[in-house]
Amino acid sequence: MVLKLMCPKCGRQVKKEDFLGKVCKVCFEEQNPEPMTLKISSIPLCTNCGKIYGHKWLPRKQIWDVIKSNIQFSQDNLYLISYTLKDIIMSGRQGVQANIRYYYKHGGKKIVKTFSKSLFLKTTTCPICGKIKGNYHEAIIQIRYEGKEEPKGVWKLIEQTIRPYEEDNTIAIQDKGYLKTGGYDLNITLKTIANTIVKNLRNAFQPEYKISHRLVGFDMPASKKKYKTTYLLRFPPSNESL
Ligand SMILES: [Zn+2]
Ligand SMILES: [Zn+2]
Repeated sequence: MVLKLMCPKCGRQVKKEDFLGKVCKVCFEEQNPEPMTLKISSIPLCTNCGKIYGHKWLPRKQIWDVIKSNIQFSQDNLYLISYTLKDIIMSGRQGVQANIRYYYKHGGKKIVKTFSKSLFLKTTTCPICGKIKGNYHEAIIQIRYEGKEEPKGVWKLIEQTIRPYEEDNTIAIQDKGYLKTGGYDLNITLKTIANTIVKNLRNAFQPEYKISHRLVGFDMPASKKKYKTTYLLRFPPSNESL
């Protein structure tokens, strides 16, 4: 014979192992609402490059990181077990359904639950794609050298520097314009990328260096003046040609 106990809350006869703390499982669920919630109901998605927004714009494959960082617990000692993500259509819009398995301990018992939530992918244009579409670049790097021969390794170093951005779906260089003699101009989408390129070139080649800023407008929402930065790098003739 199976020993049953009466739940003091609902009065049902319930097996001992179906008690959670002092009440039955059903009453326990009623008294303890879902301890897991998500702080977000949508995730911004750039329709141009496919990136999603968490604390910054990230490749789509990092969508779980974005979801995970928005999980809130109302219980201590809550542990994630596994998750699945499924692409879905929500009233004609793209979405993703997250199923998150987790457990927590209550009165010495391990309570396993699955939390499900559907999130909209809110289509938008990320700032970088916005700049590229608007043909806007924050910086220009002017590469200058003697004669027609580009110093060895300069372009290679630039390519190496921008590779991680390109892998990240960020167009670093919008345009490369050759001059008739001795150099080219690079239109760089973001100033931070330009800074990194210039820093690497200066470390490797010690070119003559000049930086200038030109006021190009005013960013209303941020109420900040917008500048375009020009870096001029004049390379000495390479040793081999001396
Ligand atoms: Zn009960
Ligand atoms: Zn984008």
